[in-house]
Amino acid sequence: MLPIFVLIYLCSELSEGISTNPIIYDLTWTFGNDTIYWPGWKKFEFTKQIHIENNGLYSANEFCAAEHGGTHFDAPYHFYQKGWKVAEVPVTRLFAKGLSNEAAQWIVDANKFVGVGLDTPSIDPGNTTDYFVHKIFAENSLYNLENVKLLDNLPERGFNVVVAPMKIEGGSGAPVRVFATVEEL
Ligand SMILES: [Zn+2]
Repeated sequence: MLPIFVLIYLCSELSEGISTNPIIYDLTWTFGNDTIYWPGWKKFEFTKQIHIENNGLYSANEFCAAEHGGTHFDAPYHFYQKGWKVAEVPVTRLFAKGLSNEAAQWIVDANKFVGVGLDTPSIDPGNTTDYFVHKIFAENSLYNLENVKLLDNLPERGFNVVVAPMKIEGGSGAPVRVFATVEEL
């Protein structure tokens, strides 16, 4: 099966990006026991710590996981020493527009995208040995979204995307919540 891409480019005006009543799609897989991780890396581990029901509820838990699993964000630093780490990616780049299919070099040459998302575990093909796509995107300050939950009813183009990675200091990647918003016609 071919991966499905979302090309993400910057909204020129943040204020015009979200209308008062958009349709909002959640493009994120829920983190839990079934979340996919690369073999050998720490899976999502959720530990119930406190649950006190006494005149109401106090509940608090812990979680632990590798950066690069489930729906997640690849910072350019993942494959490029001088690249932005997760907390360094400018927040203005995390509100963007999505398009449909094109190829890596074309995306870089087009010089108008800030990131690329796809519905497979890696932006490179599974049998890659040189990680060409990761590297060329990282060196051009593009981030990747991997394991995006792309929905059939998302229009082919013309939607806005909000990308909200956990802001991990020094992170090369992070769990991410991704939304698409479509203007109601
Ligand atoms: Zn990754």
